[in-house]
Amino acid sequence: MGNGAKAAQKRERNADKNAAKGSKSQAKANEAAKNIICTTCRQSFLTTTRAPALEEHAQNKHSKTMAECFPNAAA
Ligand SMILES: [Zn+2]
Repeated sequence: MGNGAKAAQKRERNADKNAAKGSKSQAKANEAAKNIICTTCRQSFLTTTRAPALEEHAQNKHSKTMAECFPNAAA
């Protein structure tokens, strides 16, 4: 047991820290997933939002088509 073992322990602890950080950044990942943005009102939607929901937003909020409000999401 010399300094080498201690250094390894330290590295392990740092790895744990990084893992904890990674789980916390999940919130940031969720934020990044919201990348469908209504070009009319800038409201953001999750990429998993179904087309009918976007269509409904466009029509109900703006009396526009889905393609007008969400040119990027139009498939
Ligand atoms: Zn909108």
